[in-house]
Amino acid sequence: MSDSKNANPKWWHILITNWIIADPNYMLEVNGGPSRNYQVQKYSNMKHLYLFGGRLRTVKQLPLNLIVGGLMILLGILFWIFEASWFWHKLSPAIPIVFSYCWFISFTMFIKAATSDPGILPRNMHLPNYPTRIKDEDDKTIEGSSSDPIVANPDEYFNTITLPYYDDKYNGVNVKYCTTCHIWRPPRSSHCGVCNVCVVNHDHHCIYINNCVGLRNYKYFLWFVLFTVISNIYVTVTTFVHIFHYLSTDSNLKSFKHSIETYPGTFVTLILSILTLIYPLSILIIHICLTSQNLTTREYLNNVRPNKNFVHVFDTHSMLKNFYITWIGRSRGVSSFRLRDQSMAGDIRLENLPPLE
Ligand SMILES: [Zn+2]
Ligand SMILES: [Zn+2]
Repeated sequence: MSDSKNANPKWWHILITNWIIADPNYMLEVNGGPSRNYQVQKYSNMKHLYLFGGRLRTVKQLPLNLIVGGLMILLGILFWIFEASWFWHKLSPAIPIVFSYCWFISFTMFIKAATSDPGILPRNMHLPNYPTRIKDEDDKTIEGSSSDPIVANPDEYFNTITLPYYDDKYNGVNVKYCTTCHIWRPPRSSHCGVCNVCVVNHDHHCIYINNCVGLRNYKYFLWFVLFTVISNIYVTVTTFVHIFHYLSTDSNLKSFKHSIETYPGTFVTLILSILTLIYPLSILIIHICLTSQNLTTREYLNNVRPNKNFVHVFDTHSMLKNFYITWIGRSRGVSSFRLRDQSMAGDIRLENLPPLE
């Protein structure tokens, strides 16, 4: 009975599992199987979920991004209910309008940072070019023939290659082979253990946006953190003014207690804005320090102790130039493969081949 059910799935079932929240491992087979790139990554350690037909993505982890987004929406709603009208009439309409602008930038940057491609590199681009038998997870031969040997990865694939640097004082820039993705990683890229992919300009994996932060979403991440801090400081200051308004001569309120009893919503908004300011503010300070040197979090952590051999070739030695590059100027680059494009037979860029022996 369950087979006949699967053979003719209801349209809404297909809509939910193949389009709204698609996990390639659990998608329903319709019209001859998967046709787009986001639908073909069927392997057990595939960590991404695709939303709305592969337009957005998230990682299969505790969805802390929903809590972050929920807190942002809650703070916005509290401000619009308890503060906007009071400030609009008492002081100036500009106060709620400026808040709405900052909140909107903060929220849209959050959505972009959390759901866009951080710069994932295609897999299996640098496989050995001699006959090799490659097995899948069930020990089935999926490349080469059963008579081919399962050969060892060439030695150089396990080495770190050092690209030369013009100044002999330094060792140069290290480039490594990823034995999981089977690619030579471009400089500054690294493998994210949570997402199980290599990411260009990998900064860190952020559990609060539930996505990696890399070349293609770092700017969104920076502007999200900056505008979250601005919005929260704005709410903290305005609610503070609203509550301590009893000190001014034209107020009929007598005391602090009287003020928070009259405006309990304002008091709750003030507490929430302070609590949700602390963490983004510390992240912002860290990233201002890092971007002043055009350093990624990973590069910083790998070289916390002074390392004579570490040469940060990407530092322009001008703080302003570094800020310009990281916050505004650097191109996001193109996505290595488009998830919504038609998938091609034999395309191994998205396949999960086991590590070579
Ligand atoms: Zn990798
Ligand atoms: Zn990641």
